[in-house]
Amino acid sequence: MLEINSETKLLGLIGNPVKHSLSPVIHNTAIKVHGLNLVYLALPVEPLYLEAALKGMAAIGFKGFNVTIPHKEAVLPFLDSISSEGKMIGAINTVVINQGKLRGYNTDGIGFIRALEEKQIDPTGMNILILGAGGAAKAVAVALALRGAGSIVIGNRSFSRAQELAEKIAAMGTNASAQPLERLKKAATFSGIDLLVNTTPVGMNPEDRLLIPVEALPRECVVCDLVYGPQKSRLLREAGKGGHTAVDGSAMLLHQGAAAFSLFTGLEPPLAEMRQALHVALCQNM
Ligand code: NAP
Repeated sequence: MLEINSETKLLGLIGNPVKHSLSPVIHNTAIKVHGLNLVYLALPVEPLYLEAALKGMAAIGFKGFNVTIPHKEAVLPFLDSISSEGKMIGAINTVVINQGKLRGYNTDGIGFIRALEEKQIDPTGMNILILGAGGAAKAVAVALALRGAGSIVIGNRSFSRAQELAEKIAAMGTNASAQPLERLKKAATFSGIDLLVNTTPVGMNPEDRLLIPVEALPRECVVCDLVYGPQKSRLLREAGKGGHTAVDGSAMLLHQGAAAFSLFTGLEPPLAEMRQALHVALCQNM
């Protein structure tokens, strides 16, 4: 147990719901390893009270907080400053409070890149297919474009969202285009694709269908799924059977949290302990 006393400072996660979040486990482990007088709490905040919650957190001396659905974009107007990556992505998952001023960051993209790096995967020059065009897709696409991706195709159920994201990526100088998910579902081949990233929640339930035919991917294509859990998603299971290198979302979750911890504290995140705590919590959530 962390020892809480009158000097204890606060960190937290705002969102709705936050009940099943693993961020408290990751951050409180890091806090304990460093022996800090800090505690990280999961704080459910209704959209109606977002502004009041942010003002309240600054007023009572929170050092910072993470932000999850549905507030990642909604917090933007209430921040005093935003990092360049946060501006490019257009969504925030980490806020640092310094002398009452709120500065927003997005660590999802760097979390994803570090998850690839752990597997010795360098996305520079790769031709990439991203499924989904929501908040996570934006963070991943921007991070990949910043890392020198060769080309990025966005496939999404709502085609207009795919187009919007492809335009954002093209404006960064990366070759980008949009495809309706329905068309990708029927594709016979995805020739030339080096990296597939599923950023939709499809795959969280064991009975979920595949969004695209995995057998149409080139054998050397790396397959990533942002979905995380004790069980591999159907996409990753099929990718494994097909001989693809497969990367699940747990390493991204770890690294986005680790990057946020560094921003909150200025300290090196204890990755081994955070990873172990995350693994245990994921198994308990089975
Ligand atoms: P989001 O903003 O709500 O976007 C969801 C995306 O998935 C949209 O593009 C949506 O398409 C698509 N989608 C949803 N249901 C679908 C279905 N049945 N068939 C096809 N497409 C569907 O959510 P998000 O914040 O991007 O999060 C997406 C997933 O990434 C979640 O599972 C989340 O847990 C995971 N995630 C993981 C990490 C990590 O660290 N591993 C970090 C962030 C997010 P439309 O535009 O057509 O609605």
